[in-house]
Amino acid sequence: TNKKNKHGISFYSKEQDIYHEGRLTLMSNLRQDLADDRLELFYQPKLASTTGRVVGMEALIRWNHQQLGFIPPDEFILLAEETGVISQLTRWVINRALSDFVQFRAEGYEGDISINISARNLSESDLPGYLTSKLSEYQIPANKVILELTETAVMEDPESGIVALNALTDTGINLSIDDFGAGYSSLSYLKRLPATEIKLDRSLITDILSSESDRVIVQTSIDMAHNLGYDLVAEGVETQEVLDLLTSMKCDKIQGYHLSRPLDREAMSAWLEEALN
Ligand code: C2E
Ligand code: CA
Ligand code: CA
Ligand code: CA
Repeated sequence: TNKKNKHGISFYSKEQDIYHEGRLTLMSNLRQDLADDRLELFYQPKLASTTGRVVGMEALIRWNHQQLGFIPPDEFILLAEETGVISQLTRWVINRALSDFVQFRAEGYEGDISINISARNLSESDLPGYLTSKLSEYQIPANKVILELTETAVMEDPESGIVALNALTDTGINLSIDDFGAGYSSLSYLKRLPATEIKLDRSLITDILSSESDRVIVQTSIDMAHNLGYDLVAEGVETQEVLDLLTSMKCDKIQGYHLSRPLDREAMSAWLEEALN
């Protein structure tokens, strides 16, 4: 709680100081661990619903803190965004994902790779240049790379967001709108984004078997996406029943625990070897 001194000026209570310092310490640990390459990427496959073939994979960051143990990304990504560490983090993720991607391709994988970025990254004018240089360093065709960004991230500042997204897609990479349907979705605005793919939020998929309204929203989203020329991906698919239903609803791609949990690089290689044969 805020306390006021005799001049009426608020100052932080001790608890808040500790919390504040805890956040700063955590972020300086994150910076250091990124610099020391102590984080990991896991990969989760994405299948085409009609053929059942693997067509993509999403890179998901994992941080095993030396003292605190595993910290879920939802708990440190927001902090990284607020403190600016996300700039270093996103570059680390791009570099690691692309270097692992080279190995997956050497093992016969022909699909694409999806990388999550944050709204904060859109204000970095050198990000397109960083991507281009990494693509050429690893000799990866740009159209094999998808950047995932939440729609709310762009909605914060649509005009400059669209300019930044155009600069990114000018490199040849593709854009996916993540967590679609989780917040306020503006269709007229959506079609101004240079995206090729829309990912329906897991919250719309979870109860799809029992909730008729969720089914209606999902079907409407699929039809709308197709009419606007986007591929539609459903995430959070946990059962064969949901997979079958989404396939019958003409959902293009499927991701979720039913196919595979996110796997570390070696486990992903083993999974691919099975899936490709
Ligand atoms: P997201 O991008 O929406 O990622 C999907 C999340 O759902 C992942 O959680 C994934 O492990 C989980 N998931 C996948 N399939 C299923 C399923 O069938 N059921 C359930 N219950 N969950 C499933 P994760 O890895 O903990 O990541 C959470 C969020 O953290 C991500 O949400 C993304 O917003 C963020 N994040 C993760 N990695 C990165 C990264 O490298 N960069 C940035 N900027 N954000 C990241
Ligand atoms: Ca994502
Ligand atoms: Ca998502
Ligand atoms: Ca999310």
